[in-house]
Amino acid sequence: MESNETALGAAFDHDAIAREVESRFGEFFRSRVNPTAAQRDRDYATFAPELLAEMAALGLVGFTAPREIGGGGRTWEEWGHALEEIGYRCEDTGLPMLLSYRETATNLMYTSGMRGRPHLIERYAEPAVRGRHFIGWLYTEETDAFDFTTRVARRDGAWVLDGMKKASTGAPTCTCWIVYARIEDSDDTMVVLVEAADPGVTTLPQRSLGMRSLGVSSVRFDNVVLGDDRIIQATDGLSHSQLFVNERRVTGSSWLLGRMRALIQHIIDDTLPKSRFGRRLVEFDTFIAAIGRMQAALESARALLYRVLHRVEQGKHRSSYLHDPLVAVSKYVATEAAVLCADTAQRLAGDHGFFERFEIDRYLRDFYSIVPIIGGQYAIETELGRRVLFFHKGRGDASEPRPLHRPESDA
Ligand SMILES: Cc1cc2nc3c(=O)[nH]c(=O)nc-3n(C[C@H](O)[C@H](O)[C@H](O)COP(=O)(O)OP(=O)(O)OC[C@H]3O[C@@H](n4cnc5c(N)ncnc54)[C@H](O)[C@@H]3O)c2cc1C
Repeated sequence: MESNETALGAAFDHDAIAREVESRFGEFFRSRVNPTAAQRDRDYATFAPELLAEMAALGLVGFTAPREIGGGGRTWEEWGHALEEIGYRCEDTGLPMLLSYRETATNLMYTSGMRGRPHLIERYAEPAVRGRHFIGWLYTEETDAFDFTTRVARRDGAWVLDGMKKASTGAPTCTCWIVYARIEDSDDTMVVLVEAADPGVTTLPQRSLGMRSLGVSSVRFDNVVLGDDRIIQATDGLSHSQLFVNERRVTGSSWLLGRMRALIQHIIDDTLPKSRFGRRLVEFDTFIAAIGRMQAALESARALLYRVLHRVEQGKHRSSYLHDPLVAVSKYVATEAAVLCADTAQRLAGDHGFFERFEIDRYLRDFYSIVPIIGGQYAIETELGRRVLFFHKGRGDASEPRPLHRPESDA
């Protein structure tokens, strides 16, 4: 079932996006990215800034950014569908992840600029669209999600930042970060802009399970002095961070569909030459059913994701105070489907799943890397369960913790 027919297929022409991605980017992935994907994984090598700038010139960066800053002005729905096709063609899983992540960071910089900080657009958002700045987003620490140890303090007319963030996607090429820090002697959070070249900033590369071309690193801040021009949002940083999280959950799972499609084809191609007990392995019922199981997982994730992309486009998610439950579910379902596909592929591949040279193991490591990102799977389950129980009890019991989401119809 290679066509992308779903209940919403009629509402959005996925095939047109697929043709566009192929004609604009297909050759670039085949010639510039895919031949070196396995080596990048082995070496933890990231994408060079020059290659990233080339991607920007092609339009792989800033697909959804406003046209007035050089972006493509396309919708999230189009970008979500495009990312599936990018994921399908790009054999380095880290790249669609990086592209979708940086797209969101650039959009957030633009939005922050439009909220009364216009210099952020000129200095960071516009150059990012043109491939001259690479923006990261630094929230997570080893502490509870709302209890940062990273702090900003007012000293001699400037802000001084100290602390540590544990994971930065694309850190080796980040030229700046959006950083969340507690304001000294308060419970409030400030959002600040830190440049990689600022004195006192250190990136610490980390070895990791998968998506190694992302170069995920920790970032430490020691006495980093920032002027007022580096304030992105002076208070209530937590609601600012939610703008990022919501969009990441949508686009963070759309490219996974493409990688799943690629894996299904990879495992069939790998198995085609094999015969056992005088019969071709691809004719065994167990093999055929396993392929069907992977396809069913893919189609389920796709049906939900297309629905969410459409809903996001209509702007309905914005009525939710913190985040949209259906968006979280689409990340959850896509991740479970990807993990099922990778696990099934391993079982089908025999020792080809074990030896690196067949390039099947990388899917398993890459797909498992999505589990903790932007809300772990257990955290999403817990929040959803809490929501169902809360409303089951008739608008809830005041003694119970409130769910993070408001009740909201998906209609
Ligand atoms: C490839 C990769 C790239 C990343 N890039 C960035 C980046 O650029 N910037 C950044 O800030 N961070 C980044 N992160 C960090 C990532 O966003 C965090 O891993 C994520 O927010 C989860 O936090 P955590 O790891 O502290 O998990 P924890 O919150 O410690 O979760 C640990 C366990 O507890 C469960 N759990 C957590 N909360 C609940 C709950 N409420 N109810 C039930 N169970 C719960 C989780 O599901 C999990 O099983 C990256 C991570 C990865 C893997």
